[in-house]
Amino acid sequence: MSATTLARWLPEAGQITVLTGAGISTDSGIPDFRGPQGVWTKDPAAAAMSTIGSYLADPEVRRRAWRSRRDHPAWDAEPNAAHAALVDLERAGRLRALITQNIDGLHQRAGSSPETVIEIHGTMREAECLACGLRTPMPEVLARVEAGEEDPPCPECGGIQKSATISFGQALKEDVLEAAVVAARSCDLFVAVGTSLTVQPAAGLCLEAVETGVRLVILNAEPTPYDGLADAVLRKPIGETLPRLVELALGTSR
Ligand SMILES: [Zn+2]
Repeated sequence: MSATTLARWLPEAGQITVLTGAGISTDSGIPDFRGPQGVWTKDPAAAAMSTIGSYLADPEVRRRAWRSRRDHPAWDAEPNAAHAALVDLERAGRLRALITQNIDGLHQRAGSSPETVIEIHGTMREAECLACGLRTPMPEVLARVEAGEEDPPCPECGGIQKSATISFGQALKEDVLEAAVVAARSCDLFVAVGTSLTVQPAAGLCLEAVETGVRLVILNAEPTPYDGLADAVLRKPIGETLPRLVELALGTSR
């Protein structure tokens, strides 16, 4: 589909569900952990911290994980123009839902409302007790790490705590996944941004949308397995292109 065709039907696209992946946050200085240049690809020890079995079994993995959370680039990161564009889309009443694979919380930092954002992989901005489920703001737990607790236990039950993210080997939250599937099916246009669409459930959401008759647009630097199903595929810089798409959708482009 050509740019002129996009320009014609984006304004008529009605309710839009957007799925975002790591590619939307790289402009904010947060590396893509899974991509070809990703941290996990280069450092298997980093992957162990994100595997629930190793995390529970090995105190040294947990100590390393807390240091890694403390040093995560997201704490100093600012949302970029692509995050801001999705706030505009929401304020114009055109954003059905914002599904994200990202755990960095930058959509909410940009101004997207928490009710609109569906974090399928959880959030690094909270800690969760793996025994009793207690949620604590991450900065509070990291303050304990700073004060010398290398693996701070749950203040309620003494259980092992972890960032409230979905690690490898951990089940997704049933209600969160359900909300994402409903959002993928009940929109007029599904836009996948900065995601390789190789990880479930994100990949399957594209299929849910297409099978329901929803138009699919993919904006990603690399080819994805779903490009053939998409009505439009854009391999352009996200920080420039997503704001442009939102302007077209809102009829505010010059
Ligand atoms: Zn607990």
